Amino acid sequence: MHPDLESSLLHCRNLPSPPAVALQIIELAQDPDADLATAARVIAMDPALSARLLRVANSPLYAGRRRVETLAQATTMLGLNATLSLALGFSLARGLRSTSGAAAEQERLWKRSVLSALAARLLGEHAGLERLEDLMLAGLLQDIGALALLQARPDAWLALQDGGRMPVPLEREREVFGGDHAEAGAWLAQRWQLPTYLCEAIAASEGDPDPSNTFHACVIASGAVATLWLADGDADGTLRTAAEARIQAGGVGGPGTLDSLLAQMASASQNFGELFDMRIVQPAHLHAIIEQARELLVLRNLREIQETARARREADASRERIRDLTEQTRRDPLTGVYNRMQLEEALEHEFAAATAAGHPLSIAFVDLDGFKLINDRHGHLVGDQVLRQFAQTLQRMLRATDLVARYGGEEFLVVLADSSEAAATQVLQRILEETARAPMAVVDGHPLYVTFSAGVATREAGDSQFANPRALLQAADQALYLAKRRGRNQVGQHGH
Ligand code: GH3
Ligand code: MG
Ligand code: MG
Repeated sequence: MHPDLESSLLHCRNLPSPPAVALQIIELAQDPDADLATAARVIAMDPALSARLLRVANSPLYAGRRRVETLAQATTMLGLNATLSLALGFSLARGLRSTSGAAAEQERLWKRSVLSALAARLLGEHAGLERLEDLMLAGLLQDIGALALLQARPDAWLALQDGGRMPVPLEREREVFGGDHAEAGAWLAQRWQLPTYLCEAIAASEGDPDPSNTFHACVIASGAVATLWLADGDADGTLRTAAEARIQAGGVGGPGTLDSLLAQMASASQNFGELFDMRIVQPAHLHAIIEQARELLVLRNLREIQETARARREADASRERIRDLTEQTRRDPLTGVYNRMQLEEALEHEFAAATAAGHPLSIAFVDLDGFKLINDRHGHLVGDQVLRQFAQTLQRMLRATDLVARYGGEEFLVVLADSSEAAATQVLQRILEETARAPMAVVDGHPLYVTFSAGVATREAGDSQFANPRALLQAADQALYLAKRRGRNQVGQHGH
């Protein structure tokens, strides 16, 4: 700190100083044992401060949460850290604003502080930071050094600012005061024993943004945004470019961030200003930008809605595709009936269900007769057509609760739930009659008929003959073998 600056601050009789309640809050903020109840007690002693905290707790900043009626509810909702930061911000803003002298310039500086607080908070949200109340407080207090310089050497400050139409380069401040307002602010913050993070943020507030410290980067950018907002105009876009550059250099946002930030500030400004008894108007020179950004924000919301709908449709489609694929792995590609793998799983299931329910269960191996001959005479394509048609016939003739699978080659397995041996034999007999009646293919204008042999095996209700599905399958295979031996084109039963 330059000795000239320090001595003028030290000799200033009306240097801004925190009101009593702020001092208590600062003390609490340093106390590792501080709790919400103590914080609420300190705040409750200042009715205006209590009212302000209730207002902020119910403001759109915390929108969506339930309405709070008491200070205790407000502090509980906000949590200790946020409560202390907000209380400190409000008590300092109110206490320091009543300092005598240069009222218009004080008001301008406070307006800048409140705007910085709002901008810092919104930037923090953009950047995904969590300490938004601390950010707000750092934004609010980053220019207390300017208040100090104004109090210490009002004439010099006012001459330099020239009504505050344009931001004054820091070098000019250093020439006149021996140091800039950021230095003065950090010095003051230390004297007040503000938390270290605030002293550091104030000291860094006019420096170059560094993406490795997003908190500082938000504070730095917030000042530039407040400058842009408060300027008389920005005809050549210098201030806008400066603000954009700080946002991007600090890694706080991208090319569109400033415009959407301005639109958000325009929406929040009235409510936010009222928290500090301040009227913040949307600057005329930013009107067009803000309107355009608002439209873009609306469009972006619309796009987000469309994106969500599209994502949902895609998820549905891929679920369907997975279902289809799963179904495909269960089916035989030539005939469309279940494949052997699926059959074995289904048979296990049916076997257990029949056992549990005390129902009979029948299965039948079905093997086309002399199929090799069909292939030999008419070719494989006709053979395939016969297999397809035969599988369809089987399915058509069975109940929906029955199951058909291609076991291999020209051999099928039928599972007939809740069917006795007699019932199953009758079903297979009817299918045999149907195949004698309906041709499986037409070759050179001539209908092609097939016959089959079937072997039925049944586990009657309460029967303990077949211990597992495998034993039942072997029995049906034996019955089929016998049917073939007995001359084909017939239905055989196990054990007969
Ligand atoms: P049997 O009456 O004793 O059952 O005589 P078969 O000719 O039906 O029995 P075999 O097991 O000797 O011959 C089965 C034939 O089925 C042999 C094989 O080429 C044919 N085959 C197996 N799978 C397919 C297929 O997917 N498509 C076609 N076209 N033929 C197949
Ligand atoms: Mg055969
Ligand atoms: Mg065979």
